[in-house]
Amino acid sequence: MANLEEALAAVDEHPEIRHIISVSGGKDSAALAVHVRNNYPQIPAEYVFCDTGVELEETYEYLERMEAILGIEIHRVNALDLIGVNQKPGRTPFDWFLQERYSGFLPSPRMRWCTRALKIHPFEKFVGNSQCFSYIGIRADEKRDGYVQHRKPPALSNRPNIEPVYPLRDDDLRLADVRALLENSGLGLPTYYEWRSRSGCYFCFYQQKGEWQRLRKTHPDLYQAAKKYERVEGDKRFTWVDGRTLSDLEDDPVDYDLPDPEAEDGCAICHL
Ligand code: SF4
Repeated sequence: MANLEEALAAVDEHPEIRHIISVSGGKDSAALAVHVRNNYPQIPAEYVFCDTGVELEETYEYLERMEAILGIEIHRVNALDLIGVNQKPGRTPFDWFLQERYSGFLPSPRMRWCTRALKIHPFEKFVGNSQCFSYIGIRADEKRDGYVQHRKPPALSNRPNIEPVYPLRDDDLRLADVRALLENSGLGLPTYYEWRSRSGCYFCFYQQKGEWQRLRKTHPDLYQAAKKYERVEGDKRFTWVDGRTLSDLEDDPVDYDLPDPEAEDGCAICHL
C-alpha cells in the first residue's frame, strides 16, 4: 500500500509507473476521478471500468457523462476479452462464466466468484506486468465491514506490481465532500441512487428487498431477466435473495424501505 504523497512523488521520479483509477459507476469512485483531476492534474491518470455486461443502463450513461464532463477516457474492459471469447448478442461475460465455469451456480455473498472473474481478473489483465498505483475510492469515513481503518483496506489485486493508494482517505474526504465534489463538478450522482443504494450488476445479490421491489418498478424487463436465472430443483433453491425467489417477493405485501448504503455490507470492489 502506498500513500498519496508517494504516488505523487513517483510521477516525476518513476515516470514508468502507471496511475490507474478504477471506476465502478458509483459515487465514490466518480468523486475520486473528480478529486484527482481537480487537485492533482500532474498525475497521468488512466481510467478503467470492468464491465460485467449486466450493468444498469444508468451506469453506462454515467460513465459517458464522466468522460464528457471531466474530459477523460474510460477504458472498458471485460472478462471475455481476457479469455479470448467473442461476445455474442445475448451472451454477456456474466452468462459465459455462469454457464461455462460455474455450472449455473449463482454467485452469492458466500461464493462471490463474480467479483474475481468479472472485475479483478480483467483489471489485472489491463495492468499486465507493468508497475502501477491502483487508485481506489475508499473515503476517510468508511464504516462498512471490510472498509474500517484497523483492517487492511480493500485492494483490487494482491499482485506485487499493483500497489493500492487511497487518495480520498489520505486527503480526509468524507461522504459530504464526495457529494460536494460531484455536485460542483456538474456530474451529480448516478440516477440509480434514486431507487437503489449501490452501483453494480442489476441483479446484484447484495440488493435488499426494497431495492428488488424498486428494480421491478423501474426496470421491469431487468427484473424479469433476473428471475430467469433462478432455479428451484426439489428442495434446492438457487435464488438471488436468500431462501426466496423473486416470484415469492412479488407476493410479499410489505413495501420495504431502501437500505442505508452506508450501513449495509456490500462488495468493496463493485460498490464504490
Ligand atoms: S455487483 Fe454484485 S453481482 Fe455484480 S460482480 Fe459485483 S458482487 Fe457480483
